[in-house]
Amino acid sequence: MDERRIAARFAGFDQDGNGYIDREDFYSAAKALLAEFDVTARCDKGQDLFAGAEAFWQGMAGIADVDGDQRVTRGEFVTGAVKRLRDSPERFAEIARPFLRAAIAVADSGGGGVAVASAERVLRALGVEGEVAAQAVASLDGDGDGRVSEDEVVRGFALYFTVPE
Ligand code: CA
Ligand code: CA
Repeated sequence: MDERRIAARFAGFDQDGNGYIDREDFYSAAKALLAEFDVTARCDKGQDLFAGAEAFWQGMAGIADVDGDQRVTRGEFVTGAVKRLRDSPERFAEIARPFLRAAIAVADSGGGGVAVASAERVLRALGVEGEVAAQAVASLDGDGDGRVSEDEVVRGFALYFTVPE
């Protein structure tokens, strides 16, 4: 993976743009999603989302926070996360599954995945630009039924790191 792509992926996680990834970034992402879909933090869906954000952060820290200071710098991200996901993108993506599952529940009240339009709102709330978000979601909905399943979302997350754009 080249430097520009690594920088873009790092920036996606560094939601507040302060130069490192930490727990706050994952909580910011959860808050942004709750605000976008007008869901309170106290309800079951809100609590599930924060639990997923915590698990996602713990997974990321376990992989990439080499010096254990509860911050993942760009250098740690490159040597830790990027190497790990190159070896096994599916396993890397599993650290995101509880968060992604909870995000789907927040974005869509019906069972069985999330509507394409709602999935696009999720990505935009997380700071992905409109055009990129639309393309990403369209590519996830392989069978074109207008919905994206949890597995499709997790797989898309893995591909996001491994497939050249
Ligand atoms: Ca940050
Ligand atoms: Ca660190």
